[in-house]
Amino acid sequence: MKLILLGAPGAGKGTVAKMLTALDGSVQISTGDILRGAVKAGTELGKQAQDYMNRGDLVPDELIMGIMGKRLQEPDCEQGFLLDGFPRTIPQAEALKDMLGELSITLDVAVNIDVPRDVILDRLTTRRTCSNSDCQEIYNVKTKAPKQEGVCDKCGSPVIQRDDETEEAISKRLDTYNEKTAPLVNFYEKEGMLLSVSAISSDDVIAAIKERLGS
Ligand code: AMP
Repeated sequence: MKLILLGAPGAGKGTVAKMLTALDGSVQISTGDILRGAVKAGTELGKQAQDYMNRGDLVPDELIMGIMGKRLQEPDCEQGFLLDGFPRTIPQAEALKDMLGELSITLDVAVNIDVPRDVILDRLTTRRTCSNSDCQEIYNVKTKAPKQEGVCDKCGSPVIQRDDETEEAISKRLDTYNEKTAPLVNFYEKEGMLLSVSAISSDDVIAAIKERLGS
């Protein structure tokens, strides 16, 4: 399947994407994960992105389109891909549309995961993430704590609170989402591609996607 996952930070895009990869081998592409990996590796991209990320601002569109232009042409995308956290602005959505047209790729659907703000705030402040950039397993201190405190169940690396998950940065990320990313819901509705799901449980989101795709 070829999907876009839309939704505020903490809506569950990453969790849903991981569940969908298990269904048909489509690959999860998270621009946030790619950027965090670049910051950790200290690459030029990471150096350019780090300050924006720590503030809860978006990284400039040109940097993101540079990453995605290459990523979507890698062979593992042929089986299908789940875009998690991209596009985030109208210019990114328009550039993606052109890019997919050039590559003769048709998207199945853009899924908007709609979760109430109080649930989002609670999830983000209690979320913890594996610090290993190849793993990035997500935990929650209330609902899904690692078996051994502070240690990833999957790879044994330290589990941390992300730099952009302080209360100040979270509030900024949600404002940025409302201003720059929420308009994408209308964009994809006009394109006739939108599936909006109001659900807190990832299982319910998966069920709605399966129903839409007839699978
Ligand atoms: P995420 O893990 O998707 O919440 O992304 C973490 C941070 O990476 C965001 O707050 C942005 O600073 C940056 N980022 C991720 N994806 C994008 C994107 N498509 N456009 C601009 N910035 C992005």
